[in-house]
This record gives sequence, C-alpha cells and structure tokens, in this order.
Amino acid sequence: MSIQNISLSGRKKQVSNKEMTLGERLYIGAIAGGMATTFKHLFKKKVTINYPEETRPFSPVYRGQHMLMRDEEGRERCTACGLCALSCPAEAITMKAAERKPDEKHLYREEKYAEIYEINMLRCIYCGLCEEACPKQAIYLTTSKKIVKADTNREHFIFGKEQLVMPLDQAINNTAKSE
Ligand code: SF4
Ligand code: SF4
Repeated sequence: MSIQNISLSGRKKQVSNKEMTLGERLYIGAIAGGMATTFKHLFKKKVTINYPEETRPFSPVYRGQHMLMRDEEGRERCTACGLCALSCPAEAITMKAAERKPDEKHLYREEKYAEIYEINMLRCIYCGLCEEACPKQAIYLTTSKKIVKADTNREHFIFGKEQLVMPLDQAINNTAKSE
C-alpha cells in the first residue's frame, strides 16, 4: 500500500476534479442554503449573552479575590502565624512577621502582625484552604465579583497588603451595620 492511500482516521476521501455544472457555478443553491441556515437561527434561543451589559449568575460556591480582614475596631486581624501559607497547596502565600510597637495598638489586633503579606495570584487555585486554616478569621475569599484583572506583567499578579487588606471605611461601615 502506498503512503498516499493510508488513512489513519478512516475518513480520507478521494478528491474529485470533476467540472462544476452550470447550476453549481451560479451558487444560487448554496446561497439559498446559507440564507436558510441564517434565517433558522433568527428564531432560536441565543447561546451568547451581551457581556458586559449582561452577566451570567455566579455559582453559589464562587470564590472571589482574597481579603485580609479587620476587626470591629478597624485593626488588622492577621497575626502572621503562617498557617495559611503552610496549608496552601500552591505555595502562593508569603509573609514576613513584625512585632507591634506600643503606639500601633490601634492598627494591629495582636502583638505580632504581617509586615509583608503577599499572594501570587498566578499560583492561587482558589481552593479556600487558607481561609479554613486561619485561626483568626483573618483571610477570606470574598463572594464579591472582584476578580483578578488580566495583565501582561507577571509581577503585577503578586498582590501585597495594599490590595488585600480590607479598606478601613468598609470595616467601619460593617461595624456600624452590626450595631
Ligand atoms: S485559595 Fe488555596 S491556592 Fe489560593 S492562596 Fe488560598 S490556599 Fe493557596
Ligand atoms: S491570615 Fe490567618 S493563618 Fe494566615 S498568617 Fe494571618 S492569622 Fe495566620
């Protein structure tokens, strides 16, 4: 058997070089067929949505971007114990602990806090294990629809505290609502 006749998929067909008939050369049949297909789809339910005006409902188990929480007095909850980093299967979390100074009691809840806290969003798989491991209820994967934006620079995906810590006005707002 020559190599030209081998068909791995079994779908190989001999191409015909026969001349087209007058009807085929006018393309009227093909155009009518195409128009019929287009017309048929006018009455079918669309499979696409008009994003961003319309959005699909999120799954009930959706996990959005992480947030480092503050307590009811606006102080950072994280004590830099490192349990979240240890539990992270993607090794996405790194931190550096620091000791709280006497005049920083209004900033950090415990004597130790995370001076540096970073999550590599390119590594994160949004499993939520960091949230489960945290004994201080300091890290959460939000249910907000905040998502990590696309970028061409890998370094922009290393989120530090400025992107992760809950904004102070949000903490004050939450406290006001619970009172
Ligand atoms: S969600 Fe999972 S992968 Fe992402 S930082 Fe937390 S533990 Fe790591
Ligand atoms: S977020 Fe929680 S688990 Fe992670 S270092 Fe802070 S206190 Fe520890």
